[in-house]
Amino acid sequence: MLQEKKDIRALSKEQLRDFFAAQGDQAYRGNQVYEWLWQKSAHSFEGMTNLSKDTRELLDKNFIINHISVDQMQRSADGTIKNAVKLHDGLLVESVLIPTEARTTACVSSQVGCSLDCRFCATSRLKRMRNLNPDEIYDQVVVIDKQSRLYFGRPLSNIVFMGMGEPLMNYNNVLKAIGKITSREGLGMSPKRITVSTSGVPKMIKKMADEEVRFNLAVSLHSAIDVVRTSIMPFNKTFPLKDLREALQYWYAKTKNRITYEYVVWKDVNDTQKDVDALVKFCRFAPSKVNLIEYNPIDDGEFSQASDKALQLYQETLQDNGIVVTVRRSRGKDIDAACGQLANKS
Ligand code: SAH
Repeated sequence: MLQEKKDIRALSKEQLRDFFAAQGDQAYRGNQVYEWLWQKSAHSFEGMTNLSKDTRELLDKNFIINHISVDQMQRSADGTIKNAVKLHDGLLVESVLIPTEARTTACVSSQVGCSLDCRFCATSRLKRMRNLNPDEIYDQVVVIDKQSRLYFGRPLSNIVFMGMGEPLMNYNNVLKAIGKITSREGLGMSPKRITVSTSGVPKMIKKMADEEVRFNLAVSLHSAIDVVRTSIMPFNKTFPLKDLREALQYWYAKTKNRITYEYVVWKDVNDTQKDVDALVKFCRFAPSKVNLIEYNPIDDGEFSQASDKALQLYQETLQDNGIVVTVRRSRGKDIDAACGQLANKS
């Protein structure tokens, strides 16, 4: 029976070195192959031109290189690009390039579908199928970096884990991918330019803090009142605000890295003074800032954006209390590429 070939990018550099040593070759070949796989994003063994023909054939006999491919690319009138990305097993995820004057941001997915059930998010309608591998996360970044150079004449500058999935429910692979993205043997990006966004999994936030990670943390808060938050993000029942708060305090104590709260204000959900006051109180627990996100409607129209007056109430109250608040306008709405709209529609 034919032995099944292994995905070579599941191997560490050490394991690649061991592979060559076991073949009676120089372990150093492992470094060369590693560089081709990660820094140069080689798609085939054939293209690894500093290796002998025999070595390339040996690799081809034992391994495959699983690569993502862009199944469909859509461009928004505002320049935003959405990629429908096909994985080696045919499943799809989406990733987005968001250009502004100062930066190009990649918004990448961490899971196929999502296991959470936020009622305002289109991705939650898809069943969680599986976690993405580190290389599948890494490849989304490589693709967007290339698009950024091609269409905007500059490299990618920032990465946000705000695509499909809950990054902290695919913790190991997300951290491995970030390791590759930030390492000099990968893309060499600064962790300061990377933001992991989570709905708030307390145990994992603490774990990240213990590992003293250097990237930024954003939390999709949307309400600082338990009953309200549970009604729109049902998993809040399992991870109530008290636990989240405690984890975030722990995070700040360990990392000294300010937290960003993402927050959408909806009509008749969280648009009263009581909601604002609860948020102000929550912000006092650890140094933080608030990013008010415009609501991007998903098909069934259960939720709608709060009035300008309610938004203003939030902005003014936060500012009066010395909390930094920014308002994020949606990008790529016309191609369903905005926050919460990723649902593999195409
Ligand atoms: N699971 C992670 C990352 C994906 S969501 C998280 O929850 O943070 C990325 C951001 O988009 C989150 O802040 C999420 O709450 C927000 N979002 C989801 N649906 C939205 C919608 N319809 N309009 C605006 N923002 C939305």
